[in-house]
Amino acid sequence: MIRNPVPWPDGARCAVAFTFDMDADSILHLAHHRSADTRVAATSFLRYGPEVAIPRLVDLYARFSMRQTFFLPAWCMERYPAAVELIASNGHEIAHHGYLHEAPNELDRDEERYWLERATEVIVSMTGERPKGFRAPSYKFSRDTLDLLLAQDFRYDASLMGDDVPYLLESPEGRRLVELPSHYALDDWPHFMSSRDFNYFMSIKAPDQAMEVYRAEFDAMWECGGLWIAVWHPFLSGRLARCLAIAKLIEYMHEKGKVWFARLDEIAAHVEALSTSGEWTPRVDRLPFYPGPIPELGDAEPGLAL
Ligand SMILES: [Zn+2]
Repeated sequence: MIRNPVPWPDGARCAVAFTFDMDADSILHLAHHRSADTRVAATSFLRYGPEVAIPRLVDLYARFSMRQTFFLPAWCMERYPAAVELIASNGHEIAHHGYLHEAPNELDRDEERYWLERATEVIVSMTGERPKGFRAPSYKFSRDTLDLLLAQDFRYDASLMGDDVPYLLESPEGRRLVELPSHYALDDWPHFMSSRDFNYFMSIKAPDQAMEVYRAEFDAMWECGGLWIAVWHPFLSGRLARCLAIAKLIEYMHEKGKVWFARLDEIAAHVEALSTSGEWTPRVDRLPFYPGPIPELGDAEPGLAL
C-alpha cells in the first residue's frame, strides 16, 4: 500500500515515535491574555502537564528503555525548568515548538523569525544544544516557515501531514528539509480535549477507544513500512488512566516486534543518510504550494459556500 517504503534500521517493519507537546498554560495566555490569570482551574488543568505528567512519562519511558522527543514552547521551558531538566537528563530530545505557542501563519515573516530565534536562544541556553526539530504550534506552518528553518540549520520539521513516510520539503531555491509527518488520527486533542476556556467540547473517549484508533494506525504502519508519530499533550494523555493505556500499547508494540522506537532527530538522521547514500529516495514536496490565493476566484470575496 506504500509504494516507496523506508528501509528502517535492523529490518524493522516500521518506525514509532511518541512525541509530546508540552504546551502547559502557554495556550491559555495566548487565548486569553488579559484574563488568563483569573482562570485558575484552567491553569491547573494545563500545569498538570509539567508538574505531574512529565515525571510520569519519563518514568514510563525508562521502564521500556525508550528515548523520545518532546516539543516545548520556550516560554514553558522558562516557567517549568524542572520538567526540562527531567526530560533532558533522561536522554530525551527537546525540540522547538515556538516561544509562546504563537501561530506562525498568523505572523509576518519578520515576526515569525523573531519568535523562532528567541525560542532557539532559550533552548540553547537551557540545554547547551541548538534544536534540530520543529513542530509549528497548532500545525500552523506558514509559507515562510521552511525558509526560516533552513536558515537556522534545523534538520527536520514535524508539522505536516503529507505522507505515511518521511519526505522532503524543498524551498524555491532548491534547499531541502526532512519532513516527519503525522496526522489528526494520531493527535490526542480530538479524543480528549474538553475545556470551557477553549470552547472545545469533544466527547471524551475512554482510553481504550483512543488506543483502538492509535493501534489501528500502528498496525497499518507495521504492515506497510510506515512511520507512526503520536502527537500528544502531557495535560491530556499524561492523565492516569490514559498513561496506563499507553503502557499497554507499548507492550503490544513490543510483542508484535520489529519496531524501531526512536527520537525524531534519529529518524531524520536515518532519512538523511539513506538519501545521501542513494539507498532510498524520499518523495519531495515543493513549498509553498501556492504563491497566494488562486486566481480562479479573482480579487473579490467569492461568496461560494464550502
Ligand atoms: Zn502545541
